Amino acid sequence: MASTLDFWDSRIERAPLEELRELQLRKLKSLVDNVYRNSAFYRQRFDEAGVKPEMIKSLDDIVKLPFTYKKDLRDNYPTKMFSAPLSQVVRYHASSGTTGKPTVVGYTRGDIECWSTSLARAFTSCGLGHGDVLIVSYGYGLFTGGLGAHYGAEEVGASVIPMGVGNTQRQIELMQDLHATAIACTPSYLLHMNETAKSMGISIKKDTDLRMAFLGAEPWSLETRGRIEKALGIKAYDIYGTSELSGPLFTECKCQDGIHVWADHFLLEVIDKNGDPVPEGKKGELVVTTLSKEALPLIRYRVGDTTILNNEVCECGRTHPRIMRIMGRTDDMLIIRGINVFPSQIESVLMTIPEVGEHFQIIADRKGELDELTVRVEVTRTAFSDKLADLMKLEQKVGYELQKVLNISTKVELVETGTLPRSQGKSQKVIDRRKI
Ligand SMILES: [Zn+2]
Repeated sequence: MASTLDFWDSRIERAPLEELRELQLRKLKSLVDNVYRNSAFYRQRFDEAGVKPEMIKSLDDIVKLPFTYKKDLRDNYPTKMFSAPLSQVVRYHASSGTTGKPTVVGYTRGDIECWSTSLARAFTSCGLGHGDVLIVSYGYGLFTGGLGAHYGAEEVGASVIPMGVGNTQRQIELMQDLHATAIACTPSYLLHMNETAKSMGISIKKDTDLRMAFLGAEPWSLETRGRIEKALGIKAYDIYGTSELSGPLFTECKCQDGIHVWADHFLLEVIDKNGDPVPEGKKGELVVTTLSKEALPLIRYRVGDTTILNNEVCECGRTHPRIMRIMGRTDDMLIIRGINVFPSQIESVLMTIPEVGEHFQIIADRKGELDELTVRVEVTRTAFSDKLADLMKLEQKVGYELQKVLNISTKVELVETGTLPRSQGKSQKVIDRRKI
C-alpha cells in the first residue's frame, strides 16, 4: 500500500473518480461562463456554434462546444484570446514560430502556481524530492521546458542546476561534481550525453549518481527507454506537456504505465479524424480543456498528439486518468504510398535490433510519382564489419523487420557510429523531401 509520502497531495491524487468528475463539471461550467463573458474570441465561437453556457449540464455536453486550434492562437496573436486582464499576467512564453507565426501564452500568478504543483505531483510520483539534485537541460527562455521543470523541482525541494541546452562536457562535469541524481532533457540529448561521457572516459552508469531522467519534448519508444535505462543504469520517465497548455506538466509515475493527467485541472477527450469520441482504449487525437487556467484558458484544444486514454485506477493508487505513450504528433505522421507511418514505429523496430545504434534518420522522397522511404541507421561499433556480406545481411534484416511492422518496403542505409547529426534539443529525425 502506498504511503502518503509517495504523494504530493494524497487527498486529491487519490480522490474517488466520482468526486473528480463532480469537480470537473463544476469547473467546466464556471469556465464556460467565464470565457463567454470575458473573451470576445470564445463568445463569437460559441455564438457561431449556437451554444450558450447554460447548455452545459453534464460532462458529456462538452461535445456541444467548438474545438480550438493552434491556428486560433496564431490568428489571435499576440493576446486576443486571453481571458484575464493583461495587468494580471506575470509571465509570457512564446513558441519559436518555426512553422508559422509564433504563439504567445500568458500566465497569471495562479497559472504559474498550478503549473508548478502539477509538476510537483508528477515528480513526487517518480520519487524525486528533497535531497535530489536535478539538472535541467531543457532550453530556458521563451521555450517552456526549462523554467517549467525548474519550478516543479524547486517546489518539491530538490536542488536545481539550471543548465539549459548545450555545452555537453560541462554538463557531465557538473553532473559528477554536484552529484546530480536526476536530469530533464530530450531522450536524444541524453543519448548524446552518454556518448560524450564515454569519449571523456566517464561512465554515467558507474561514475555518477544519476538515477532518473525525465525525458520528453519529442516522441520516443519503449524500446529506446529500455536501451537508455540499461546503458545508464537509471529509470527513465516520460514527461509531457505542450507550450499552449503551460509547458511540461505531467510525467509517468513509478509504474511507468502511462502519464497521469491531473483531472482537477484538465479535462481530456480522445477523438477520431471526424472529431467524434473514440471508444475507451482506442487510439485517437488528444483534446484538452484547461479547467484552472486564468490568463489563457483553452476549450477543447486540439493538441495534435496521438494517444490512448486509460481511465482505470493506476497501481500507484492515483485515480487520475493516464494517457498512454504518445505516438507522435498527427502532423508528424508520414503518408507513404497511402500508408500512415509514425516515426515512433520505425524507432520501436530499430531499437529491438542489437546491431543498430541509437541514432537514425528517416527520409521521405518522391521518385517520379512514387513515394520512397529511406531509413539511415547507425550501426554499433562492435557490429560494424569490414565484410560487405555481413553488412548486406544486416541491411536485409533491418528492411525485413521494418516491412513487417510498417507494411511497406523501405530502403535501408547503414552508416558508421557518429555519422548522423546529434542534437542538443529536439532531434530532426525526419526529413521530408517531398515538401521541398
Ligand atoms: Zn500511477
